[in-house]
Amino acid sequence: MTARNDLKTYYIETWGCQMNDLDTQRLSGQLKLRGYRRVSSEHEAGLILLNTCSVREKSEQKMFSELGRLRAAKERGATIGICGCVAQQEGEAILARAPHVDFVMGPGHVGYIDEILKGTTRIAVEFPDDRRYDFVSIDRPSAVRAQVTVVEGCNKNCTFCIVPTTRGREVSRPLRDIVAECEHAVSTGRVEIELLGQTVNAYACPESGGDFASLLSAVARIPGVLRVRFMTSHPAEVTAPMIAAMRDHENICRYIHLPVQSGSSAVLRRMKRLYSREKFLAIVCELREAMPEIRFSTDVIVGFPGETDDDFAGTLSLLEQVRFGAIYAFKYSERPGTASLRLGGPVDDAVSTERLNRVFELQARIERETLEGFVGRVVPVLFEGVSRNDAAICSGKTEDSWTVNFIRPEHPPTGALIGVRIDHAKHHSLFGEAVT
Ligand code: SF4
Repeated sequence: MTARNDLKTYYIETWGCQMNDLDTQRLSGQLKLRGYRRVSSEHEAGLILLNTCSVREKSEQKMFSELGRLRAAKERGATIGICGCVAQQEGEAILARAPHVDFVMGPGHVGYIDEILKGTTRIAVEFPDDRRYDFVSIDRPSAVRAQVTVVEGCNKNCTFCIVPTTRGREVSRPLRDIVAECEHAVSTGRVEIELLGQTVNAYACPESGGDFASLLSAVARIPGVLRVRFMTSHPAEVTAPMIAAMRDHENICRYIHLPVQSGSSAVLRRMKRLYSREKFLAIVCELREAMPEIRFSTDVIVGFPGETDDDFAGTLSLLEQVRFGAIYAFKYSERPGTASLRLGGPVDDAVSTERLNRVFELQARIERETLEGFVGRVVPVLFEGVSRNDAAICSGKTEDSWTVNFIRPEHPPTGALIGVRIDHAKHHSLFGEAVT
């Protein structure tokens, strides 16, 4: 293989979760540091990276079909690299199936791009002991928000999930490194920090043993941080100190993404989710008692092996009960090497599809009612820039991530928190007028 520094343009396509988005930002930043220029089309790129996701079979199939298409890019001399979770999971098999791929690199190697660029490493899928993390170079797409990894990997063993295989065991970053990264982000104008981890609230500082609550407080206290978010919380890791930290710092968003996956305790047991329906609802209650205005979003899987009509009815009733602002719902997808494969086949596809549609229908109603519930209220909105469709309209986000478009005679500085009176609820957004 020749050195890969002759065509210094790159294109990255990203699938999957926010951890993958952040890995793309890290890769992009490192490439820019090394003199590469990002382009928006693969046709102009000397280096093409696919940052892949393996949580569902569909994204994996998509990657292999993209690879077929990229043969033409290879013929014109481009270098093709596969990163992310499918790279980790499939490793050598990708090179065997698509020999035009130049390298395969798992998520643990995002900090080690030099070895890859030299052209000496074709496959990098082991988990390095030292996860190199250069936060100064991260190529952050948002002028107001910085995503910050606090823990990589996952020690849970949910029976449907491939993440512990593709991202390895939990490794928390030292609290002082995280705070330094957040301070650096603030010094570059970012006012919202989003702490990321597959199980973010399992965070444990490797130096002091400090827990997620102490991390939340430390980040919330950084001068200039107007909002702190975090994703994804595991219900079994929600603790009283975590709730207290959220309650005690006004700049921690009154919003939590708390994946329930199913409303049936029997299914949750087979998923090894480590909580029951009752326990999940009790956690929701505790959070609401501490912060009555808190809002929730969640993930749901339908058609898990053995899911009965009654189990599914439990999921619908839980969604009605909690009234999540947003949900991410999917049909169960068999993943290689996961324990759920031993629990029998998935529910018949037509039944799963029908269940998924019922979840979407119910959620569409709840979402509409949630958005209508904003009308007439004044809510804090973080101004991010002008609306894509009309430069006269300002645009920003509520604490629970709804987009708000609003009118204000003078545009505020980017990153300002503005009080907006909501006048209309639209399909997936809100519209109003600034009152501050
Ligand atoms: S908590 Fe469960 S679903 Fe989430 S990443 Fe870990 S194993 Fe996967």
